[in-house]
Amino acid sequence: METHYVCRGECGGVSDEPQAVCQMTDCSKHAQHMTPCNCSDDKHEEVREDKHQEEMEDNQ
Ligand SMILES: [Zn+2]
Ligand SMILES: [Zn+2]
Repeated sequence: METHYVCRGECGGVSDEPQAVCQMTDCSKHAQHMTPCNCSDDKHEEVREDKHQEEMEDNQ
């Protein structure tokens, strides 16, 4: 799979457009840009790890 863009919110949205934003109005990342991901197994672990780090920072 080529580079795709994954929402870091709970909707788990994926797009092929670099300028894509989350379309889910009930997602915490609604209207925010998606995060580039290069995974080939559709798990988007790169994005999930990034989200995890962000949550860790918020707790400090
Ligand atoms: Zn979303
Ligand atoms: Zn991915």
